[in-house]
Amino acid sequence: MSNKTLPLTDALHRYLLDVSLRESDTLRRLREETAQVRLAIMQITPEQGQFMQLLVHLTSAKRCLEIGTYTGYSALCVAQSLGDDGRLICCDINEEWTAIARRYWAEAGVAHKIDLRLAPALETLNALRAQGAAASFDFVFVDADKANYDNYYEHALALLRAGGLMAIDNTLWFGHPADPADMSPDTVAIRALNSKIKQDARVRISMLPIGDGLTLAQKI
Ligand code: SAM
Ligand code: CA
Repeated sequence: MSNKTLPLTDALHRYLLDVSLRESDTLRRLREETAQVRLAIMQITPEQGQFMQLLVHLTSAKRCLEIGTYTGYSALCVAQSLGDDGRLICCDINEEWTAIARRYWAEAGVAHKIDLRLAPALETLNALRAQGAAASFDFVFVDADKANYDNYYEHALALLRAGGLMAIDNTLWFGHPADPADMSPDTVAIRALNSKIKQDARVRISMLPIGDGLTLAQKI
């Protein structure tokens, strides 16, 4: 028994995957192809993807938004969990990485649920709000450039309906935020957002040590 989160040794992690990971064939092949792509470390872990699938089911989400798509693994997790009337808007700026994403989304038969917007995410988010999409999303996943995390958080809060859920990735950022000597811009941005979220009465929160840290924030 432990009153602290268990340290995840390689053996325990292997066991966790062995006894719980249910990854579709398309997701597994996308993960294997992504492992050969530059910056493959950016992809969420498969167990986090499965957790996000559960979140989508638990919230009965229909309108979803992803900020930072890369080769499309997290988006495919979400899209596979949406009903046929569910929709996911994806924001990214990289054509090469999202071309891989599009290939797998088509193969998995979920391309019709995904609307990829290739533009700086702040432009897409501003446009959504200008078009009246505020308070209309059920689920938002934040996973793009860390310097803009606070901006993404504020846009996501505005776009979520009351009761909607935001999941913010990399909030433990390789452990750097806990090192006061680390003042690199990305660490400072994540540390500041973590502190802000703790005090933010607009949300209910839980910070999970899954993957690189995942903060859940439900809009009140
Ligand atoms: N969610 C993805 C997954 O788990 O497979 C990983 C996303 S990766 C960490 C971050 C992505 O954000 C990259 O694909 C990058 O091109 C994109 N990105 C970086 N700056 C951006 C910006 N200003 N607007 C939109 N996307 C951006
Ligand atoms: Ca991430």
